[in-house]
Amino acid sequence: MIRETLDNGIVRYRFETLDREDVVHAILTRLGGVSQGPFATLNLGHTVGDDLEAVKENHRRVFAALGIPRDCAVSPYQVHSANVRWVSQAHAGTVQPATDGLITGTPGLALLFRFADCVPVLLFDRTHRAIGLVHAGWRGAAKGVVAAAVKTFAHYVGSRPEDLWAGIGPAIGPCCYRVGSDVARAVARACPDGVQITQRKDDGVYLDLPGAVRAQLAAAGVGKVEMSGICTACHTEEWFSHRAERGRTGRFGVVMMLR
Ligand SMILES: [Zn+2]
Repeated sequence: MIRETLDNGIVRYRFETLDREDVVHAILTRLGGVSQGPFATLNLGHTVGDDLEAVKENHRRVFAALGIPRDCAVSPYQVHSANVRWVSQAHAGTVQPATDGLITGTPGLALLFRFADCVPVLLFDRTHRAIGLVHAGWRGAAKGVVAAAVKTFAHYVGSRPEDLWAGIGPAIGPCCYRVGSDVARAVARACPDGVQITQRKDDGVYLDLPGAVRAQLAAAGVGKVEMSGICTACHTEEWFSHRAERGRTGRFGVVMMLR
């Protein structure tokens, strides 16, 4: 991934593959905003206990740095579901209730999602010129949000799964994500047989959530999957991590838009 610093010290990461395809995208970090304390500094979450004026200023800075008008963005109210929605120009400037995936073929419509450990999945169909973003925590992965996104591409865009490229952004890794056996079982049930998604150490079970999502993408037939390989919990100097910061933290943004 490419790392660069924008106005106000905002840092963005990009996948080279998407750059070549003229897809505007930004995997933001926690750097470059005005929030304080556990939300320092570029928190984009409205529901985490941060000062809402600070959150507003952070959004202003992000859209200014990316050169995207604020009213061209659509966001989901993320609820760890398998709900995926097709959006178009009519949805610009809205928050979509109870959804964890948005797909669009509209140039100039920006998708904005928020994360702190859950897996960001960026999707792109270069044949049909459509993009999608998915928020996959363990609940979403267990409920099948990844397969639901691939189906939504097929339904609205006509995408064949092999037309799709997927990028897996920074998320909590198997190094840090200790889970109960119930969680591990729930995710394993939603993964292809034989895929190893857990590791044992220190008498605990550690879940490889990005690996599980990759396996689900492959099982759904997605042609190419790239991994960021970044663990949010290992790198709280740059990322918000719900687990590493014991639930009191902000949310970093991921933005995607067809030019
Ligand atoms: Zn880690």
